[in-house]
Amino acid sequence: MLYHAARCPLLAPARDTYLRAARRLIDACVRYEEEWGEPDADTRAAFLLGGAGVYAVAALVYQALGLPDFGRLLGRFRELSQICAPLTFLECGSDELFVGRAGYLCAALVLKQKLGMEMLTPVQIRSICQAILESGKQYAVKKRKPCPLMYSYYGTEYLGAAHGLSSILQMLLSYYEYLQPADQELVWQSIDFLMDQEQNSNWPPELGETIKRESELVHWCHGAPGIAYLFAKAYLISKKPQYLDTCIRCGELTWQKGLLKKGPGICHGVAGSAYVFLLLYRLTGNSKYIYRAQRFAEFLFTEEFKAGSRALENIYSLYEGFSGTVCFLIDLLQPNQAEFPLFSVFV
Ligand SMILES: [Zn+2]
Repeated sequence: MLYHAARCPLLAPARDTYLRAARRLIDACVRYEEEWGEPDADTRAAFLLGGAGVYAVAALVYQALGLPDFGRLLGRFRELSQICAPLTFLECGSDELFVGRAGYLCAALVLKQKLGMEMLTPVQIRSICQAILESGKQYAVKKRKPCPLMYSYYGTEYLGAAHGLSSILQMLLSYYEYLQPADQELVWQSIDFLMDQEQNSNWPPELGETIKRESELVHWCHGAPGIAYLFAKAYLISKKPQYLDTCIRCGELTWQKGLLKKGPGICHGVAGSAYVFLLLYRLTGNSKYIYRAQRFAEFLFTEEFKAGSRALENIYSLYEGFSGTVCFLIDLLQPNQAEFPLFSVFV
């Protein structure tokens, strides 16, 4: 959040203060990684929940401060590509976004975007993509799934952005030019399969579930507000209107049901919903979406929200707490550059 704030031109007078504070925080995280390591050795290569995320963010903060040590931190990040190479390097599921290979690719994408250079060699990128593809093919065959690529995390076949098929496919699309034509075809087939799982503009958390009105989830982590990013990426690459149409339906559902009671955050909170409008604004240029994002932002400051929202357990968390919410509010100041934190479809 502090790094993001430091990059916003409107907040330039406080840039150094933000970056110095960011450095204090990230230094503690790097020290922890280097001296103690992850409690579970396998989360060393995790992006959102482990070592890869720490080294990636540390490299960005150091580079912004002009500190030479940033090259060493990038080296640590690169070394982690070896850890996620074996097909089942994690027993719980090796491919999803928070701890798996899709997350590692996502981190490399963030670094490429912010530093303007590719972090991994083409051989490294191809081998991680191949592992994701192979793992998905094997799982789909073994479990006789109707989709050519399928994955599970702790035994559940999630569809959404947090641990599911959609963000794994989104990362494969983000490295589209590194895939063989036959594998590109498998990715498109899997995207179209996922599109067919739509139920009234939303998706159940798990493959094959029927959405029930009383328990429907409209979150970034589970449901349309997160799956929208896959269809946005699919549209940007293929220019096929059906993907943009699906994305627009995700936005309409989010406008109807996205004022959540689970806090202000970006994972399953109001800012996470509102980010879909900023995504749609960037895709379509339609100012209706700015209006909608502003209304959601205003709602965060109302008594109704404060009274009706569940108490936060992790107030500093990027995903569950206020840090992601602040990123959203900053992006509302610069909607032409807005993007869900660390999860861009515009790279
Ligand atoms: Zn969530």
